[in-house]
Amino acid sequence: MKNIIFLMFVLAPFMLPGQVRVIATIPDYAALAKEIGGSRVNAESLIRGTQDPHYADALPSHIMRLNRADLLISTGLGLESGWLPALLNNARNRKIMPGSPGYMEAAHFVELKDVPQKIDRSMGDVHPGGNPHFYTSPPELFKIAGEIKNRLIQIDPEGRDHYEKRWKEFSAKFNSKMDEWQKKIEPFKGTKVVVYHESWVYLLDWLGFEKVAALEPKPGIPPSAGHVAGVLKEIENQNVKFLLQEIYHPTSLSRRFAKKAGVKLVVLPSMTGAEKNTDSVFDKFETIINKLTKGE
Ligand SMILES: [Zn+2]
Repeated sequence: MKNIIFLMFVLAPFMLPGQVRVIATIPDYAALAKEIGGSRVNAESLIRGTQDPHYADALPSHIMRLNRADLLISTGLGLESGWLPALLNNARNRKIMPGSPGYMEAAHFVELKDVPQKIDRSMGDVHPGGNPHFYTSPPELFKIAGEIKNRLIQIDPEGRDHYEKRWKEFSAKFNSKMDEWQKKIEPFKGTKVVVYHESWVYLLDWLGFEKVAALEPKPGIPPSAGHVAGVLKEIENQNVKFLLQEIYHPTSLSRRFAKKAGVKLVVLPSMTGAEKNTDSVFDKFETIINKLTKGE
Protein backbone atom coordinates (compact mmCIF):
# COMPACT_ATOMS: atom_id res chain seq x y z
CA MET A 1 0.00 0.00 0.00
CA LYS A 2 2.84 2.35 0.87
CA ASN A 3 4.25 1.76 -2.59
CA ILE A 4 0.97 2.61 -4.21
CA ILE A 5 0.62 5.90 -2.33
CA PHE A 6 4.18 6.73 -3.29
CA LEU A 7 3.43 6.01 -6.94
CA MET A 8 0.31 8.18 -6.91
CA PHE A 9 2.44 11.00 -5.62
CA VAL A 10 5.11 10.43 -8.24
CA LEU A 11 2.75 10.07 -11.19
CA ALA A 12 0.23 12.78 -10.36
CA PRO A 13 2.29 15.88 -11.27
CA PHE A 14 2.66 14.75 -14.88
CA MET A 15 -1.06 14.87 -15.60
CA LEU A 16 -3.12 17.95 -16.25
CA PRO A 17 -6.71 17.95 -15.02
CA GLY A 18 -9.20 16.93 -17.68
CA GLN A 19 -6.67 15.15 -19.88
CA VAL A 20 -7.60 11.80 -21.38
CA ARG A 21 -5.24 9.27 -19.85
CA VAL A 22 -4.02 6.80 -22.43
CA ILE A 23 -1.99 3.77 -21.49
CA ALA A 24 -0.45 1.82 -24.34
CA THR A 25 1.33 -1.47 -23.98
CA ILE A 26 4.02 -0.60 -26.54
CA PRO A 27 5.38 2.91 -27.14
CA ASP A 28 4.17 3.25 -30.74
CA TYR A 29 0.51 3.48 -29.72
CA ALA A 30 1.35 6.09 -27.07
CA ALA A 31 3.31 8.05 -29.69
CA LEU A 32 0.27 7.98 -31.99
CA ALA A 33 -2.08 9.05 -29.19
CA LYS A 34 0.22 12.04 -28.53
CA GLU A 35 0.26 12.97 -32.23
CA ILE A 36 -3.54 12.90 -32.44
CA GLY A 37 -4.41 13.97 -28.92
CA GLY A 38 -1.96 16.82 -28.38
CA SER A 39 -2.67 18.76 -25.19
CA ARG A 40 -5.94 16.95 -24.46
CA VAL A 41 -4.15 13.64 -23.94
CA ASN A 42 -1.58 12.22 -21.54
CA ALA A 43 -0.16 9.08 -23.11
CA GLU A 44 2.38 6.62 -21.74
CA SER A 45 3.44 3.11 -22.58
CA LEU A 46 3.96 0.27 -20.15
CA ILE A 47 7.08 -1.01 -21.86
CA ARG A 48 10.00 0.67 -23.59
CA GLY A 49 10.98 0.24 -27.20
CA THR A 50 14.07 -1.63 -26.07
CA GLN A 51 12.07 -4.41 -24.37
CA ASP A 52 10.73 -7.62 -25.85
CA PRO A 53 6.94 -7.16 -25.70
CA HIS A 54 6.37 -10.93 -25.54
CA TYR A 55 8.09 -11.20 -22.18
CA ALA A 56 7.62 -7.90 -20.34
CA ASP A 57 7.46 -7.84 -16.54
CA ALA A 58 4.18 -7.04 -14.79
CA LEU A 59 5.18 -4.23 -12.41
CA PRO A 60 3.11 -2.74 -9.54
CA SER A 61 3.51 0.69 -11.14
CA HIS A 62 1.71 -0.70 -14.21
CA ILE A 63 -1.33 -1.53 -12.09
CA MET A 64 -1.54 2.03 -10.82
CA ARG A 65 -1.26 3.44 -14.33
CA LEU A 66 -3.99 1.13 -15.60
CA ASN A 67 -6.19 1.97 -12.63
CA ARG A 68 -6.22 5.62 -13.68
CA ALA A 69 -6.48 5.09 -17.45
CA ASP A 70 -9.34 6.19 -19.72
CA LEU A 71 -8.07 4.25 -22.72
CA LEU A 72 -5.88 1.15 -22.93
CA ILE A 73 -4.34 0.34 -26.29
CA SER A 74 -2.81 -3.11 -26.66
CA THR A 75 -1.66 -5.15 -29.64
CA GLY A 76 -3.67 -8.29 -28.94
CA LEU A 77 -3.09 -11.56 -30.77
CA GLY A 78 -1.26 -12.91 -27.74
CA LEU A 79 1.64 -10.43 -27.83
CA GLU A 80 0.93 -9.23 -24.29
CA SER A 81 -0.90 -12.33 -23.03
CA GLY A 82 1.99 -13.27 -20.72
CA TRP A 83 1.72 -10.11 -18.63
CA LEU A 84 -1.26 -7.88 -19.43
CA PRO A 85 -4.29 -9.93 -18.25
CA ALA A 86 -3.07 -10.13 -14.63
CA LEU A 87 -2.36 -6.38 -14.59
CA LEU A 88 -5.79 -5.63 -16.01
CA ASN A 89 -7.50 -7.75 -13.36
CA ASN A 90 -5.60 -6.06 -10.56
CA ALA A 91 -6.20 -2.57 -11.94
CA ARG A 92 -9.98 -2.84 -11.31
CA ASN A 93 -10.89 -0.21 -13.86
CA ARG A 94 -14.17 -0.85 -15.70
CA LYS A 95 -13.39 1.84 -18.27
CA ILE A 96 -10.62 -0.25 -19.83
CA MET A 97 -12.09 -3.75 -19.58
CA PRO A 98 -12.73 -5.70 -22.83
CA GLY A 99 -15.95 -4.53 -24.45
CA SER A 100 -15.64 -0.92 -23.23
CA PRO A 101 -14.71 1.96 -25.60
CA GLY A 102 -11.63 2.39 -23.41
CA TYR A 103 -10.30 -1.05 -24.37
CA MET A 104 -8.67 -1.20 -27.79
CA GLU A 105 -6.84 -4.16 -29.31
CA ALA A 106 -4.96 -2.96 -32.36
CA ALA A 107 -5.10 -6.42 -33.99
CA HIS A 108 -8.79 -5.87 -34.74
CA PHE A 109 -8.03 -2.95 -37.03
CA VAL A 110 -5.27 -4.27 -39.27
CA GLU A 111 -4.92 -6.91 -41.96
CA LEU A 112 -3.28 -9.83 -40.20
CA LYS A 113 -0.53 -11.96 -41.70
CA ASP A 114 0.81 -15.45 -40.88
CA VAL A 115 -2.64 -16.53 -39.66
CA PRO A 116 -2.56 -20.34 -39.40
CA GLN A 117 -5.38 -22.61 -40.53
CA LYS A 118 -5.62 -23.90 -37.00
CA ILE A 119 -4.12 -22.59 -33.78
CA ASP A 120 -1.12 -24.61 -32.66
CA ARG A 121 0.80 -23.58 -29.56
CA SER A 122 2.94 -26.69 -29.63
CA MET A 123 6.66 -26.20 -29.17
CA GLY A 124 6.06 -22.77 -27.61
CA ASP A 125 5.17 -20.83 -30.78
CA VAL A 126 4.44 -17.31 -29.52
CA HIS A 127 2.48 -16.36 -32.69
CA PRO A 128 -0.18 -19.08 -32.58
CA GLY A 129 -3.02 -16.92 -33.94
CA GLY A 130 -1.09 -14.85 -36.49
CA ASN A 131 1.78 -12.38 -36.49
CA PRO A 132 1.35 -9.58 -33.89
CA HIS A 133 4.21 -7.34 -35.11
CA PHE A 134 2.13 -5.24 -37.50
CA TYR A 135 3.40 -2.06 -35.82
CA THR A 136 6.58 -2.43 -37.92
CA SER A 137 4.59 -1.44 -41.03
CA PRO A 138 3.62 2.18 -41.82
CA PRO A 139 0.22 1.42 -43.45
CA GLU A 140 -0.84 -0.86 -40.59
CA LEU A 141 0.24 1.66 -37.97
CA PHE A 142 -1.74 4.29 -39.89
CA LYS A 143 -4.92 2.19 -39.57
CA ILE A 144 -4.30 1.93 -35.82
CA ALA A 145 -3.88 5.71 -35.63
CA GLY A 146 -7.29 6.12 -37.28
CA GLU A 147 -8.94 3.95 -34.65
CA ILE A 148 -7.13 5.82 -31.84
CA LYS A 149 -8.70 9.02 -33.24
CA ASN A 150 -12.16 7.36 -33.14
CA ARG A 151 -11.66 6.19 -29.56
CA LEU A 152 -10.48 9.59 -28.35
CA ILE A 153 -13.61 11.20 -29.82
CA GLN A 154 -15.79 8.52 -28.19
CA ILE A 155 -14.18 9.00 -24.79
CA ASP A 156 -13.83 12.79 -25.00
CA PRO A 157 -16.61 14.01 -27.36
CA GLU A 158 -16.04 17.65 -26.46
CA GLY A 159 -12.64 17.40 -28.11
CA ARG A 160 -14.01 16.19 -31.46
CA ASP A 161 -12.93 19.27 -33.48
CA HIS A 162 -9.51 19.23 -31.82
CA TYR A 163 -8.96 15.54 -32.66
CA GLU A 164 -10.35 15.85 -36.20
CA LYS A 165 -8.07 18.79 -36.94
CA ARG A 166 -4.98 17.06 -35.57
CA TRP A 167 -5.94 13.83 -37.38
CA LYS A 168 -6.17 15.71 -40.69
CA GLU A 169 -2.69 17.15 -40.17
CA PHE A 170 -1.24 13.85 -39.00
CA SER A 171 -2.73 11.82 -41.84
CA ALA A 172 -1.59 14.30 -44.50
CA LYS A 173 1.95 14.24 -43.13
CA PHE A 174 2.01 10.46 -42.66
CA ASN A 175 0.72 9.79 -46.18
CA SER A 176 3.26 12.10 -47.75
CA LYS A 177 6.02 10.45 -45.68
CA MET A 178 4.88 6.99 -46.79
CA ASP A 179 5.22 8.13 -50.43
CA GLU A 180 8.66 9.52 -49.68
CA TRP A 181 9.82 6.30 -47.96
CA GLN A 182 8.48 4.19 -50.83
CA LYS A 183 10.42 6.30 -53.34
CA LYS A 184 13.62 5.89 -51.34
CA ILE A 185 13.22 2.13 -51.09
CA GLU A 186 12.16 1.64 -54.74
CA PRO A 187 15.69 0.84 -56.06
CA PHE A 188 16.09 -1.81 -53.35
CA LYS A 189 12.90 -3.77 -53.99
CA GLY A 190 13.43 -7.51 -54.13
CA THR A 191 16.22 -7.39 -51.50
CA LYS A 192 16.47 -10.75 -49.77
CA VAL A 193 16.81 -10.93 -45.99
CA VAL A 194 17.03 -13.38 -43.12
CA VAL A 195 15.29 -12.40 -39.89
CA TYR A 196 16.07 -13.37 -36.31
CA HIS A 197 12.47 -13.30 -35.00
CA GLU A 198 9.38 -13.09 -37.23
CA SER A 199 8.88 -9.39 -36.48
CA TRP A 200 9.20 -7.98 -39.96
CA VAL A 201 6.70 -9.66 -42.27
CA TYR A 202 4.40 -6.60 -42.46
CA LEU A 203 7.27 -4.20 -43.05
CA LEU A 204 8.99 -6.44 -45.60
CA ASP A 205 5.80 -6.87 -47.64
CA TRP A 206 5.35 -3.11 -47.73
CA LEU A 207 8.98 -2.58 -48.74
CA GLY A 208 8.85 -5.25 -51.42
CA PHE A 209 11.64 -7.19 -49.69
CA GLU A 210 11.76 -10.98 -49.50
CA LYS A 211 12.24 -12.97 -46.31
CA VAL A 212 14.18 -16.13 -47.06
CA ALA A 213 14.50 -17.65 -43.57
CA ALA A 214 14.35 -17.01 -39.81
CA LEU A 215 17.01 -17.90 -37.25
CA GLU A 216 14.37 -18.86 -34.69
CA PRO A 217 12.96 -22.23 -35.78
CA LYS A 218 9.56 -21.05 -34.52
CA PRO A 219 8.65 -17.61 -33.13
CA GLY A 220 9.92 -17.50 -29.55
CA ILE A 221 12.12 -20.60 -29.83
CA PRO A 222 15.81 -19.64 -29.60
CA PRO A 223 17.95 -20.55 -32.62
CA SER A 224 19.57 -23.98 -32.32
CA ALA A 225 22.90 -24.87 -33.89
CA GLY A 226 21.20 -27.37 -36.18
CA HIS A 227 18.59 -24.94 -37.38
CA VAL A 228 21.13 -22.17 -37.99
CA ALA A 229 23.33 -24.57 -39.99
CA GLY A 230 20.25 -25.43 -42.06
CA VAL A 231 19.55 -21.75 -42.73
CA LEU A 232 23.17 -21.19 -43.79
CA LYS A 233 22.86 -23.99 -46.29
CA GLU A 234 19.46 -22.85 -47.50
CA ILE A 235 20.59 -19.32 -48.30
CA GLU A 236 23.79 -20.30 -50.09
CA ASN A 237 23.96 -18.58 -53.50
CA GLN A 238 20.70 -16.74 -52.87
CA ASN A 239 22.30 -13.30 -52.65
CA VAL A 240 20.80 -12.50 -49.25
CA LYS A 241 21.78 -9.00 -48.19
CA PHE A 242 20.72 -8.50 -44.56
CA LEU A 243 20.08 -10.27 -41.30
CA LEU A 244 17.43 -8.17 -39.51
CA GLN A 245 16.89 -8.23 -35.80
CA GLU A 246 15.65 -6.22 -32.86
CA ILE A 247 17.70 -4.59 -30.15
CA TYR A 248 16.46 -6.97 -27.46
CA HIS A 249 17.69 -10.15 -29.13
CA PRO A 250 21.29 -11.23 -28.53
CA THR A 251 23.72 -10.29 -31.28
CA SER A 252 26.54 -12.78 -30.62
CA LEU A 253 25.02 -15.57 -32.68
CA SER A 254 23.73 -13.10 -35.28
CA ARG A 255 27.22 -11.69 -35.77
CA ARG A 256 28.68 -15.15 -36.30
CA PHE A 257 25.87 -16.04 -38.67
CA ALA A 258 26.25 -12.80 -40.64
CA LYS A 259 29.97 -13.36 -41.03
CA LYS A 260 29.60 -16.95 -42.20
CA ALA A 261 26.74 -16.13 -44.54
CA GLY A 262 28.34 -12.96 -45.92
CA VAL A 263 25.32 -10.84 -45.03
CA LYS A 264 25.06 -7.59 -43.08
CA LEU A 265 23.55 -7.62 -39.60
CA VAL A 266 21.15 -4.68 -39.22
CA VAL A 267 19.45 -3.94 -35.91
CA LEU A 268 16.21 -2.11 -36.70
CA PRO A 269 13.92 -0.22 -34.32
CA SER A 270 10.72 -2.28 -34.39
CA MET A 271 9.13 0.07 -31.84
CA THR A 272 9.48 3.79 -31.20
CA GLY A 273 12.20 4.59 -28.68
CA ALA A 274 14.15 1.41 -29.50
CA GLU A 275 17.19 3.60 -30.18
CA LYS A 276 18.21 7.26 -30.24
CA ASN A 277 16.04 9.61 -32.28
CA THR A 278 13.18 7.15 -32.82
CA ASP A 279 10.67 8.56 -30.34
CA SER A 280 8.10 9.54 -32.96
CA VAL A 281 6.63 7.16 -35.50
CA PHE A 282 8.05 9.38 -38.24
CA ASP A 283 11.57 9.13 -36.84
CA LYS A 284 11.25 5.38 -36.35
CA PHE A 285 10.41 4.74 -40.00
CA GLU A 286 12.94 7.33 -41.16
CA THR A 287 15.62 5.36 -39.28
CA ILE A 288 14.43 2.04 -40.71
CA ILE A 289 14.48 3.37 -44.30
CA ASN A 290 17.89 5.00 -43.84
CA LYS A 291 19.41 1.83 -42.42
CA LEU A 292 18.03 -0.33 -45.20
CA THR A 293 18.98 2.02 -48.03
CA LYS A 294 22.42 2.89 -46.69
CA GLY A 295 23.05 -0.58 -45.28
CA GLU A 296 24.20 0.85 -41.95
ZN1 LIG B 1 6.88 -12.16 -31.94
